[in-house]
Amino acid sequence: MYPLRVLGRPAVPSTPDQNGQRSNPPATSGIALGFERVTKVFPDGTRAVDGVTFQVRSGEMVAIVGPSGCGKSTLLRLASRLTAPSSGEIRIGDGNLGYVFQDPTLLPWRTVQRNVELLAELAGVSAAERTQRAAQAIILTGLSGFERHRPRALSGGMRMRVSLARALTMRPRIFLFDEPFGALDEITRERLNAELLGLFEREGFAGLFVTHSVNEAAYLASRVLVMSPRPDHIVAEIPIPFAYPRAPELRFAAEFASVAGQISASLREKPR
Ligand code: ADP
Repeated sequence: MYPLRVLGRPAVPSTPDQNGQRSNPPATSGIALGFERVTKVFPDGTRAVDGVTFQVRSGEMVAIVGPSGCGKSTLLRLASRLTAPSSGEIRIGDGNLGYVFQDPTLLPWRTVQRNVELLAELAGVSAAERTQRAAQAIILTGLSGFERHRPRALSGGMRMRVSLARALTMRPRIFLFDEPFGALDEITRERLNAELLGLFEREGFAGLFVTHSVNEAAYLASRVLVMSPRPDHIVAEIPIPFAYPRAPELRFAAEFASVAGQISASLREKPR
């Protein structure tokens, strides 16, 4: 096991209570990402997103669940400005934006260290600075000792850690996650969920996490947006009433099952 470790500032974005727990949602002000009546119609007439409005506050983790093909990836592509909305407005807060895909998209000929450095290299960060940032991200993501390995020598979970480390070098204020753990086995996925939460709590970024998994959404997020079948619109917004930090055992609590059941019921609602 290679747990993610804590380095640097203890940047928990909200004020912990007397028990050291964070309130839900985080108490910081500021919007990391805002969608206002956003619609996306592709040139072939496919309406993928239909009048979607939501916000992700600074330091908040929001999950989106919805059926396959409902437009979740399109939402993330809109958020990252990879594609433009047909109408509506998208606001992004200050700071860098990180994007983690289901496919870790590593360069096979580069070592772990050189893969982690890639984004900083493309952004023109000096060699000394990016080496230092990569070293820190490698420790944070539990990759120490694997710096000289090439991607083919790594498991799926380790490759995903490299992808996460690479994004961390740009010190994003908001992370977009497009089903990053969807291709992993359940045990690895649960471990990475717990480790991602540790990173989220300590690094203080905001997150928008797209997933098919109701349990993953409920475990990670402080709010879950449930999407309808295409065209994508929000059918329910479900607050998750568990303070951070969250223990992995939370998944087995009766209260957790109740919240997960609520999300599942919303997913089964008939489209309008
Ligand atoms: P999800 O991530 O929820 O599975 P996507 O956002 O990938 O869904 O896609 C939503 C819908 O938009 C799908 O019907 C898909 O086929 C369609 N779509 C995605 N990209 C394009 C495109 N460039 N042109 C036309 N249709 C597209």
